[in-house]
Amino acid sequence: MGFLKWVFLILVLCVFGPVTVLSDSTVITDGLSKTPSEFLEFAKKQEVFDWMVEIRRKIHENPELGYEEFETSKLIRTELEKLGIPYKYPVAITGVIGFIGTGKPPFVGIRADMDALAMQELVEWEHKSKIPGKMHACGHDSHVAMLLGAAKILKEHEKELQGTVVLVFQPAEEGGGGAKKILETGVLDNVNAIFGLHVAHNLPLGEVASRPGPSLAGSGFFEAVISGKGGHAAIPQHSIDPILAASNVIVSLQHLVSREADPLDAQVVTVAKFQGGGAFNVIPDSVTIGGTFRAFSKESLSQLKQRIEEVITKQASVQRCNATVDFLENEKPLFPPTINHEGLHKHFQKIAGEMLSLRKVKELQPLMGSEDFAFYQEKIPGYIFFLGMEDRTIGRLESVHSPFFQINEDAFPYGAALHASLAAGYLSEFHQEVPSQEAKQYHDEL
Ligand SMILES: [Zn+2]
Ligand SMILES: [Zn+2]
Repeated sequence: MGFLKWVFLILVLCVFGPVTVLSDSTVITDGLSKTPSEFLEFAKKQEVFDWMVEIRRKIHENPELGYEEFETSKLIRTELEKLGIPYKYPVAITGVIGFIGTGKPPFVGIRADMDALAMQELVEWEHKSKIPGKMHACGHDSHVAMLLGAAKILKEHEKELQGTVVLVFQPAEEGGGGAKKILETGVLDNVNAIFGLHVAHNLPLGEVASRPGPSLAGSGFFEAVISGKGGHAAIPQHSIDPILAASNVIVSLQHLVSREADPLDAQVVTVAKFQGGGAFNVIPDSVTIGGTFRAFSKESLSQLKQRIEEVITKQASVQRCNATVDFLENEKPLFPPTINHEGLHKHFQKIAGEMLSLRKVKELQPLMGSEDFAFYQEKIPGYIFFLGMEDRTIGRLESVHSPFFQINEDAFPYGAALHASLAAGYLSEFHQEVPSQEAKQYHDEL
């Protein structure tokens, strides 16, 4: 090479040397032969895409409610076996935990929920739910398909993984606290970090949204029976009217957020159920009310819980009624707020930014909805993000939990590649920080 060429090369290096795009990608994928964008290319391959779509449609046709996902779980296990991925089953009744990598630390989890909702699908299409009154209206069918997509990508690169990826197929996200049950088995005890995603109907395809810190609210449910004394509606002096008492209870409950909570600390109390009476001229014996409460910190949530009980029982007694309050924690455990780990937020931005470009990595506004992913985050540094599906050229999508909810399957390669890149990148980046332990088998470690 001539002198001038050397001078030119040195100048180029001086000018462009500090540009961090390239050096970032080498840090992210240290030890991996593929970058996040190459994972995306792989996931977009026709055969990989078609395979994910086929899995999702099968699950969509046969939706199963929380802790009843037996067929879904079987389908997952069959696919894992075909891919040569070892797994543990059953975990928390229908859950499946798969393992890819060295079998040694660090361990990084990627999670999909599997359950459907008790509602009738109203979308007319070839793969409509075949089970009346049950529907995948929250996209968990797509979550499973994308996690299997990630498994396929990671298995292809298993030799390059610098630790172990733990695939978490969990039951019962919709109020059943499946995440809590998975944790109670101890199967994730050695996991160092966990990632999750949720499809978003109103975020453009190819974009993602998330934020560090509190992202989704914690939530609880309550049901109260307010008892009085029934009688003739025309002679109220001989009755104790639980309808009037319940009405006052509901009004008083509305003061908890408006008068007791910090206006800068978002909270909700909603009474969504009111059942009592059946005739125009009879005062009933009792009334049942129920609802939900939400907040962004555990403290605010437990404060609301305590005050809801006090307000219901004490306000009912003003009208000479008795009240009992049930927080239904066996069937619907209190969900903690979803709090995204700050360090993992940086990792997510690097990976997603490299794959999609930083302008497609959006900041999420906190949402009052809740996610049982929060249970993992109480024990393990965790991070959840939203995956865009909206394609305006096709039309607007309905929100999750709508009977008209639809999935844009074109989002699958993005979800699969992000899951795979977040996990593989995490292992590359953090494998030196986790104290090395003696090599053991999967079942000993986990
Ligand atoms: Zn849902
Ligand atoms: Zn969901």
